Amino acid sequence: MGFNLENITRENIKGLKPYSSARDEYVSKGSEMVFLDANENPNSNGFNRYPDPHQRSLKSILANQKNIEESQILVGNGSDEILDLLFRVFCEPKIDNIITLPPTYGMYKVLAGINDIENREVFLNSDFQPNIDTIVANVDDKTKLLLLCSPNNPTGNLIEENKIKILLKEFKGLVIIDEAYIDFASATSWIDCLNEYPNLVVTQTLSKAYGMAGIRLGMCYASEAIINLLKKIKPPYNVNVLTQNQAIKGVLNMAEVANQVAEILNERSHLQNALEEVPFIQTIYSSEANFLLVKVDDANKRYHQLLEREIVIRNRSKQPLCDNTLRFTIGTPEENIKLINALKAIK
Ligand SMILES: *Cc1c(COP(=O)(O)O)cnc(C)c1O
Repeated sequence: MGFNLENITRENIKGLKPYSSARDEYVSKGSEMVFLDANENPNSNGFNRYPDPHQRSLKSILANQKNIEESQILVGNGSDEILDLLFRVFCEPKIDNIITLPPTYGMYKVLAGINDIENREVFLNSDFQPNIDTIVANVDDKTKLLLLCSPNNPTGNLIEENKIKILLKEFKGLVIIDEAYIDFASATSWIDCLNEYPNLVVTQTLSKAYGMAGIRLGMCYASEAIINLLKKIKPPYNVNVLTQNQAIKGVLNMAEVANQVAEILNERSHLQNALEEVPFIQTIYSSEANFLLVKVDDANKRYHQLLEREIVIRNRSKQPLCDNTLRFTIGTPEENIKLINALKAIK
């Protein structure tokens, strides 16, 4: 039997009637309307009105850029909110389970814990690729979500295209591909395959390449049917006016984003070359993202030595397959020089 969205949706969500806000019931057609419907303060200051609950302006730009329908987009308060909505629409607490592939982004496990969903961890292979047979062996009829991260955090690699295709075909739940770092990668987004795979969900964010981690804006791309289920449970005003306005400016400024991505990639290759000269660095993993994962002789020691020199990095050693690894985010040229000098100075 193939994928059936109805079968994997929680019963209470199917029957749910979403909250209808004042701005849902009347769609503004012009600024000359008199709005006495939402108990707002009428004095204009740029944010005295509730935000558009459907974020239409932002979505119309995104739909155009990504070549999909607006009805295939949901935006949220960071991609973390979107992932939480996915758990709450599809996973029945204490009954259902999900599959994650450590070493990977820590939020998946936290969200599973918050929602009381069993997290079945199938470690990546030594080359940081998914082990298809073990994943399939762990799936049962209560497995609702398979979370893939590509490029993966903290390892930096893309998940092979043919492996993702097999999983999309074999797995009868949702395959969520977290593309937080896709703007840095040599591969194109899985958004282009949405119409081919009804169980595909792609998440992206303005927090990394777009330089807007502070505004909290994440995007979810999927079939209209999946998006409609998520819309049922999202808080009506989950993306505030300031964020919507800033996000619109950000996504319209593609040339500047492309420039900054190019500079960061250039800096990444400089840093990579410099790291090869550091005696206690044993492996530099190849990266498709804006960070480098390295294996060192003693990660705790090196982490604290860098802290003493006022450089904060991430020690990823507690993650499986990541013994004695450190993750360096690519900074400005000046910051990267500071890091290189510190690494060369410590003994
Ligand atoms: C940074 C990151 C995110 C971003 O989450 P936001 O809530 O959108 O800031 C998502 N996924 C991964 C794998 C990340 O590393």
